[in-house]
Amino acid sequence: MRIDVLTLFPEMFSGPMSTSLLGKAIDNEILDIQYTNPRDYAQDKHFSVDDAPYGGGPGMVMKCEPLFAAVDSLREVNSLKRVVLMSPRGRPLTQTIVKEWSESDDLVLICGRYEGFDERISQALVTDEVSIGDYVLSGGELPAMVIIDALSRMLPGVIGDFDSVSSDSFYDGILGAPQFTRPPDFKGMTVPDVLMSGNHALIERYRRKEALRVTRERRPDLLEHCSAEDAELLNEIDNEEHESDS
Ligand code: SAM
Repeated sequence: MRIDVLTLFPEMFSGPMSTSLLGKAIDNEILDIQYTNPRDYAQDKHFSVDDAPYGGGPGMVMKCEPLFAAVDSLREVNSLKRVVLMSPRGRPLTQTIVKEWSESDDLVLICGRYEGFDERISQALVTDEVSIGDYVLSGGELPAMVIIDALSRMLPGVIGDFDSVSSDSFYDGILGAPQFTRPPDFKGMTVPDVLMSGNHALIERYRRKEALRVTRERRPDLLEHCSAEDAELLNEIDNEEHESDS
């Protein structure tokens, strides 16, 4: 998969993109990340990429011309089917979006700076506008890295054992189950017997049930469309909790 990142600060990517799984995905040519600096497409003698907002107000706004020209320069190497703007005003990034985008051959990620973008970039240049959470960062580089990291986990060959991806939180809509490793007893806190039973069917059922329990405690919104099997397990949890209360 090819990802073109439009950024004024390509150097920010060097550490994260060369470390651990991402570094390997790039070395193994599963992922190809290329950087384009909008400043190289500035059209005045000062190489300006930003200007003061019409109507007044604080800060500067990223100009249309360098960004439109920078995206256009990729036409030969990127299908431009998905051009994504990093923006706190975008739709929240989810695992469903990540899964869908990971099936594309390529992607363009545009990182903002200053007070954001001229609205015409959002209206006419991009296909998607995405936010990584309800808070404001100084630039779109960290959100772009978050997207690249999340996408890379979905690409065949990046994570050796795909079971570790499919058991992740959100992969099938709910949070992940609690996990334990040695020792079996740590300061009186013991590992549930079932996990050491060797009975795979029971272990799988336990994990699903505990994943549902933690999801209901922390993210009940994720359970709105749960399956009949999950509803049965939730019922069982209810009954157990009811019994332990009485
Ligand atoms: N004035 C803008 C607003 O209120 O929506 C915020 C601009 S922010 C200081 C600069 C850039 O950082 C944004 O254009 C965007 O590219 C990026 N950014 C900041 N927070 C983000 C978030 N939560 N998700 C995605 N991108 C974000």
